[in-house]
Amino acid sequence: MNFADFSLDARLNTAIEAAGYTAPTPIQEQAIPLVMSGRDVLGLAQTGTGKTAAFALPILQRLLSGPQRKIRVLIVAPTRELAEQIHQTFVDLGKNTKVRSTPIYGGVSKRPQLAALRAGVDIVVACPGRLLDHIGERDIDLSAVEVLVLDEADRMCDMGFLPDIRRILQHLPKQRQTLFFSATMPDDIRILSAEILNNPATVQIGMIAPAETVSHAIYPIPEKLKNKLLLAMLAQTATGRVLVFTRTKRRARNLALLLANEGFNTSALQGNMAQNRRQESIDGFREGKYDILVATDIASRGIDVTDISHVINFDIPDTVDAYTHRIGRTGRAEQLGDAFTFVTESDEVMVRDIEKVLGEPLERRRLPDFDYGDFVPERQTAIAHAHQNQPASLRSQRGGHNLLGSNTARPARVGGDAARNNRQNWNNPRPQRSPGTRRAG
Ligand code: AMP
Repeated sequence: MNFADFSLDARLNTAIEAAGYTAPTPIQEQAIPLVMSGRDVLGLAQTGTGKTAAFALPILQRLLSGPQRKIRVLIVAPTRELAEQIHQTFVDLGKNTKVRSTPIYGGVSKRPQLAALRAGVDIVVACPGRLLDHIGERDIDLSAVEVLVLDEADRMCDMGFLPDIRRILQHLPKQRQTLFFSATMPDDIRILSAEILNNPATVQIGMIAPAETVSHAIYPIPEKLKNKLLLAMLAQTATGRVLVFTRTKRRARNLALLLANEGFNTSALQGNMAQNRRQESIDGFREGKYDILVATDIASRGIDVTDISHVINFDIPDTVDAYTHRIGRTGRAEQLGDAFTFVTESDEVMVRDIEKVLGEPLERRRLPDFDYGDFVPERQTAIAHAHQNQPASLRSQRGGHNLLGSNTARPARVGGDAARNNRQNWNNPRPQRSPGTRRAG
């Protein structure tokens, strides 16, 4: 399928091309025709699937005809980063049209937002709080809204925005098209969607579910002990081929040097290496010349090595998608694989997001006989849980892990105090296999 099949206006097709989209993503294939037909849609998809363009393109198509400079489309998103990102998608894809969008969120002056509203816009992309302020002050007229989009509804719910959403709904025409996107469907979101959607079509983009043959574990650790922990882990654990991921090219290079100096057959794979060096690393890893490959996410995309026994996330990935991609490299073809993730205190929000996709808590482990000094891994977990369980009003709403700009700060799932979560998550380490990873002679 290609974009031409949607019969979108030529101005949109030109913008799609300029954005570098060559073919529709699965959610776009499914959702664009449905949205264009005017149906309500329940989209079960997370960020990174192309869902923004899946609703932006048909919305732009609709706005090419009919009245201008009235708010005909309202998009509600949980964070200002996401609101900006959605607004930017409308700017990019609508650049050859006269359609105007404006973002509205708190934490910044209202004046430019008022100016944009007074000048007249077709699309408002808003966070709930500031939108309600404008509604309260009668700065915004939502009586002409034809399409409502609720994006990342589950996250809005997590952040305590559900009452705000219900208040906003009271100011919208009943007769409208509603598009509802959520990565997960907890009960309160299911109830809300049933209330506001009218005979919706459901579009579900399956998460790239991590292979079930992979066992996942996380190792709480302070940044400064990561090198030592990795060396101890490699020495203790019987491994075959090990793929280690770092956040940056520099960290990949330095870590590969450290491991090589410690006698492990190691190579790096990162973007600063010449292509022939990269190929040599991949070939050497595949052929057994190297037992360990230290890679960045981007550089690792080309690796096609099947029997990787362990993926070690020396640095936690920036997105849940990146996590599933990384660990998808082990446990292939029904083989057993282990995925270990080093987690510092600030990584705990990302851990929550990963656990949500996996649908279960990640096993927390402490490496036996490792000298943690005065660091207590169990305490890091307890503190993180306590923080996550604070009321929304006390929590910082700053996220920041997600490369795509969406907020990852969210409270724990319903129920459970810190102590109970903590107990549940700490499992006994599985018996270690021996002997340890081969070292170069
Ligand atoms: P989203 O899930 O909407 O946050 O989109 C994730 C990323 O995918 C964004 O950077 C989009 O620009 C990009 N994207 C969306 N649709 C396509 C497509 N059909 N082809 C390539 N990239 C896309």
